[in-house]
Amino acid sequence: MGREILIATGNPGKHREIVEILSEEPIDGSGATVCWRSLEDLPEAIPEPVEDGRTFAENAALKARYYARASGLWTLADDSGLEVDALGGEPGVRSARYAGMSGSGSRGEADEANNRRLISELAGVLAERRTARFRCAVAISDGECLLAAAEGRVEGRIVDEPRGDNGFGYDPHFLVLELGKTTAELGSEEKNRISHRGVAMRRLRVALGRLLSGA
Ligand code: IMP
Repeated sequence: MGREILIATGNPGKHREIVEILSEEPIDGSGATVCWRSLEDLPEAIPEPVEDGRTFAENAALKARYYARASGLWTLADDSGLEVDALGGEPGVRSARYAGMSGSGSRGEADEANNRRLISELAGVLAERRTARFRCAVAISDGECLLAAAEGRVEGRIVDEPRGDNGFGYDPHFLVLELGKTTAELGSEEKNRISHRGVAMRRLRVALGRLLSGA
């Protein structure tokens, strides 16, 4: 059996995207196989850690270390979110709980509340000043050390009217100008090709290949 690596996210939308991206190709150059595990594969539930990092990279590293210690497995964790320039980079690391609904209600309800707050904060801001980006940081830890880390981003603009049924979170309001579509209007392959998570995960796959081959 190859190296077991736990993907530590409780968000099914993100988990699906991460597995799809990491399975696009073999781990570069290492010849090693990786068995991706999910939190649901573990015999016991692990309580969520407090995500009190100041940056996406700090949060990804602290989650990877925490879940690796708790599970005994190498663990991959990511932290991601939306930065809106006209809001001074908000919601940033608070993206999941922007409307204060973390832990209460379903993820769909929290997403809707977050989107309502986002659009109301941007009331009166002109279209060309609604520049924003999704950012993703990803890390792998063995519980002691940070073994690999990478980041990715995708630039866009926030639109008032939601468009599209795919994806999750802020996707219906995030317009990718070059494509003329929101990320909720993209199929999963198309989104993974350009997304913050896609870029970060492909970079991580290269770093993991080096790590597994001892380079
Ligand atoms: P995390 O689970 O702490 O990384 O929080 C991520 C939050 O950022 C999610 O709950 C979404 O609100 C937002 N987010 C991150 N990536 C995406 C994406 O690809 N599409 C839409 N929203 C995203």
